[in-house]
Amino acid sequence: MRIGGIPVDRLAERVGSTPFFAYDRALVTARVAALRAVLPPDLRLGYAVKANPMPALVQHLSGLVDAFDVASAGEMRTALDTTIPAEHISFAGPGKTDAELSQAVAAGVLVEVESENEARRIVATGERLGITPRIAVRVNPDFSVKGSGMRMGGGPQQFGVDAERVPALFKELSDVDILGLHIFAGSQCLRADVLCEAQRQTADLAVRLAESAPVPIRYLNLGGGFGIPYSDRDEPLDPRPIGANLADVLARTIRPNLPSATVHIELGRYLVGESGFYVTRVVDRKESRGKVFLVVDGGMHHQLAASGNLGQVIRRNYPLAVGTPGGPVERVTVVGSLCTPLDLLGDDVLLPRADVGDLIVVYQAGAYGLTASPTNFLSHPAPVETLI
Ligand SMILES: *Cc1c(COP(=O)(O)O)cnc(C)c1O
Repeated sequence: MRIGGIPVDRLAERVGSTPFFAYDRALVTARVAALRAVLPPDLRLGYAVKANPMPALVQHLSGLVDAFDVASAGEMRTALDTTIPAEHISFAGPGKTDAELSQAVAAGVLVEVESENEARRIVATGERLGITPRIAVRVNPDFSVKGSGMRMGGGPQQFGVDAERVPALFKELSDVDILGLHIFAGSQCLRADVLCEAQRQTADLAVRLAESAPVPIRYLNLGGGFGIPYSDRDEPLDPRPIGANLADVLARTIRPNLPSATVHIELGRYLVGESGFYVTRVVDRKESRGKVFLVVDGGMHHQLAASGNLGQVIRRNYPLAVGTPGGPVERVTVVGSLCTPLDLLGDDVLLPRADVGDLIVVYQAGAYGLTASPTNFLSHPAPVETLI
């Protein structure tokens, strides 16, 4: 097995310690290129930095995408260190502090306000600094799109201003130059039909809200939500119908009604999730009442999602492989080194026989991996992250 063209055991020597995360830059480049090929050319593509904020990876993406979406001052710093101009960085997320708002206004970053109160605070921040803040309103949509257990949007939320309250906010802020709207309906969707329906309804909602805006809408962020397969039951998303639908929505709904808007989508996991690998080493192989356990030197403290404890309702195994030459295929359970039965990486999986010292690789580790995991739990050392 190779990562970025390098045999995994050699890569482990190069890194010098296990466990580690490796991100393959060629896979990221190819993913963005494949997506761009099916998206309308005048649609801007943004990367949601929280999916993977590793600075080298964010630098690499700065040459591939048009915009970054950040969710904290820390992510904003990483984004501002790249060649993406501040005007193409948007800052979303509830609970922005006054200090974060000041930093964003001073930097010239677009702030997507999540509440009426936050809108007032950023106006006050701009007055205090003598700088015109760049503001968009994040909208909590008044529709929900359902499909096969998936629901996008609707209901009460801490994210965004409820759609029905946006006209009143526009009225209150009629002296303020509101640039536009951000409507993000959901995440990890693997159904193109559901995403297309959400995009159509999002565009319709934006047009409706624009009627009460005091100034023309110059920025429209349609969100994202593109999913990736995590288990053998998941079908990968086909981006072609989504690209065709976006072209249609642009031509029929957005361009005629919102002619001055630059239109964005923003994706996190779809751009980077499949480019990442979490590489661990077997430290123990044991049998217990008929079951073979491989105990590896990593676990849920680095890759919580693979253990099934990051929002999954039903635990399914992430794809795993033996990174070193293995023996005949056998049924094993791969666990991490934490003192909790929750630290499970592969439950009853078929793998080539691996022994102590062999490498076990967890796929789909490029998004919501290390930074979405409880790294201090059990006080193990931090893993290396490398971009290849
Ligand atoms: C997290 C987030 C995203 C990215 O979601 P993915 O599922 O990783 O694509 C996009 N936009 C906003 C506002 C987010 O908070």
